[in-house]
Amino acid sequence: MALRLHNTLTQELEEFRPAQGNTVRMYTCGPTVYNYVHIGNLRTFTFQDILRRWLRYRGFTLNHVMNITDVEDKIIANAAKQGKTLKEYTEIYTQAFFEDAHKLRLEKPEHIAKATEHIGEMVEAIETLAAKGCTYVSDGSTYFRIASFPEYGKLSHSDFSGIRSGARVDVDEYDKDDARDFVLWKSRKGDEPYWEAPLGHGRPGWHIECSVMAMKYLGETLDIHAGGVDLTFPHHENEIAQSESITGKPFARVWLHSEHLQIEWQKMSKSLGNFYTLRDLIDMGYQPEVVRYLLASVPYRKKLNFTFDGLKAAATSIDRLRNFEDRIKTKRLHPGVNEAARQRATEALRRYEESLDDDLNTAEALGSIFEYIRETNTALDEGTFLEDNRGDALRVLKAFDDVFDVLKPTQTTTTLSDAEVDQLIAERAAAKKARDFARSDEIRAQLLQRGIVIEDTREGVHWKRK
Ligand SMILES: [Zn+2]
Repeated sequence: MALRLHNTLTQELEEFRPAQGNTVRMYTCGPTVYNYVHIGNLRTFTFQDILRRWLRYRGFTLNHVMNITDVEDKIIANAAKQGKTLKEYTEIYTQAFFEDAHKLRLEKPEHIAKATEHIGEMVEAIETLAAKGCTYVSDGSTYFRIASFPEYGKLSHSDFSGIRSGARVDVDEYDKDDARDFVLWKSRKGDEPYWEAPLGHGRPGWHIECSVMAMKYLGETLDIHAGGVDLTFPHHENEIAQSESITGKPFARVWLHSEHLQIEWQKMSKSLGNFYTLRDLIDMGYQPEVVRYLLASVPYRKKLNFTFDGLKAAATSIDRLRNFEDRIKTKRLHPGVNEAARQRATEALRRYEESLDDDLNTAEALGSIFEYIRETNTALDEGTFLEDNRGDALRVLKAFDDVFDVLKPTQTTTTLSDAEVDQLIAERAAAKKARDFARSDEIRAQLLQRGIVIEDTREGVHWKRK
C-alpha cells in the first residue's frame, strides 16, 4: 500500500505522490520569533519532522521551506519595550528556536526563509495583486479584497459568501470565525520600523510572507503545505487567496494540519500556570528525547493530552527500547537462524510501515514495535533467538529510530564541580565501609553518567573527566 495522507482541502485520505519526479516540495509555517516556542508549537514541528523522515524513508527527496516570521505586531511592541532593533530582538528567539529544534532532533528544512529578507518580493506580489484588482487602499494601508476571490473558504470548508466587503482587519491576530479583508501592506504608525516601497512607508502583513516565500523557493504549486490546525483559517485560507489570485493555479496540492495540544485536558495558557517551553521541561529534569517521544506518539490529527504521567511513561518506553537494543547487541547467541523469529521481524516491519503509510499513524507503529520487543524478549529468554536473527532485529530498530529518533541518549551537559565529585566519592567510600555495595555501585554509575570515571588504587580513589 502506498503512503496516504489526509488532505484538509478535499477532506479525504489520498495516496501521496509528488507532482514532479521524486522530490517533495513542502512548505511549513515556522515560528513567530517573539518568545520561546511552547510545546504546543513543538507538537506541530515534531509532526512535520516525522512527516519529513517518513517521506525520506519512502524514498522521496525533500525540498522543504520553513519561514521565520520576524516582523509582526508583538515583535514590534516587545522590541520597542526593550529598546532593541527588530533584528537584535528577533535574533535571540530565532537562535533559541534552532537550539530547541536541535535538542528535539528536528531535522533542519532545506531552506529557512526570514520574512524581513524577502520584503522586495512581497512588495512585487502585492503590486501584482493590485494590478489584478484584488486590493484596495485605506488609510495608507493596502488590503486584500476577499470578495475578489469567490473560492475563499474552500480550505476551512466554511461559507463566507455573506461576508461584508470592506470590513477590514489590520492586526496580526485574528478572530476565529470572522472573515475580513486582511492587510497586505501596513502603513507605518508612529515610530514603528518600516520599509520604503511604492506602496508607502510600511511593512508586510503576516499572510503575504508565506505565499511569497513558498512560491519563490518551491514554484507556483506546492506538493504539501502543513501547519497547526489553528492556521487553517484565516492564515492558510488567506495564503490560498493571495497565491491563487496571482498565479491562477492551485497553491498547494495537499494541506496537512496537526491538532491542538492540551495540558491535562486543559487549554495551555499562562494564566492557568500550565504553559511550558522545552526549556521548562528540561529544567524539570526531562530529557528532550522524552518530550519528542511523547509529542510523536499521538497521531497528528488527534488531540494530544500532555501530562506529566505521559512524560514518565514516555521515559519508561524509551528505557525499554534502549534495554532491548542493548540486549540484541550484546547477548551471546547460539549460531543459526530461527525461522519463527525471522518471521516476527518481517511481520513487525510490515505492520510498522503500513501504520505510518496510513496517514502517519504513529500510535499503531509504536504498537507494532513494542509487540515485537515483547515477543523477542521471550524468544531470547527461551533460547529461540539465534545469531543470524540479530541482524533482523537491528533492522527493525533502525526502521523505528530513523523516524522516531530517541534511542541515542542526549549527552548531559550539566557537569559536576570538583567539590561535588569529591563529595560523591566520600559518600561512596562510606557506603563501602558500611558494606553497602549496592549504594557504592550506584554512586559509581551516577558519576559515570555525568562523565566522571573513577579508579580505585592503592593510594585511594582517582577520578577523571571523560
Ligand atoms: Zn504561513
